[in-house]
Amino acid sequence: MASKLHSDEWRWPDFKLQEFACRHCGETYFHSDFFDRLQWARSIIGRPFVILSGHRCALHNAHVGGAPLSQHLTLAVDISADGHDRLSLLKACQRAGFTGFGYYQTFLHIDLGRSRQWWSDQTARDLWLTS
Ligand SMILES: [Zn+2]
Repeated sequence: MASKLHSDEWRWPDFKLQEFACRHCGETYFHSDFFDRLQWARSIIGRPFVILSGHRCALHNAHVGGAPLSQHLTLAVDISADGHDRLSLLKACQRAGFTGFGYYQTFLHIDLGRSRQWWSDQTARDLWLTS
């Protein structure tokens, strides 16, 4: 769903819609519940979230090898782990109500799909789950 919000209707002070746009074509996806929860997690952490990937159009998702039914086709975010305490970041996102967690060496994937978790490899698993 495309969005044409006036700036005074955007109520998530630490984020801009463009941060979640498709990196390939700029397509945006508006999901207020997602933004509420992300802002909540961001407020708990108190430091910037760098969004490496947000919404992806179908073409871009295929190009980057995303799962055919990836939550990125609606909205999911990959947050850079750089400069974050991984356990704190993970706990904040859990507390904010995110349900899908993907653990990668350099980032954390979160979404509001069905409750599940996965890791990209053993190193990533160790980094996130034994910290
Ligand atoms: Zn695109």
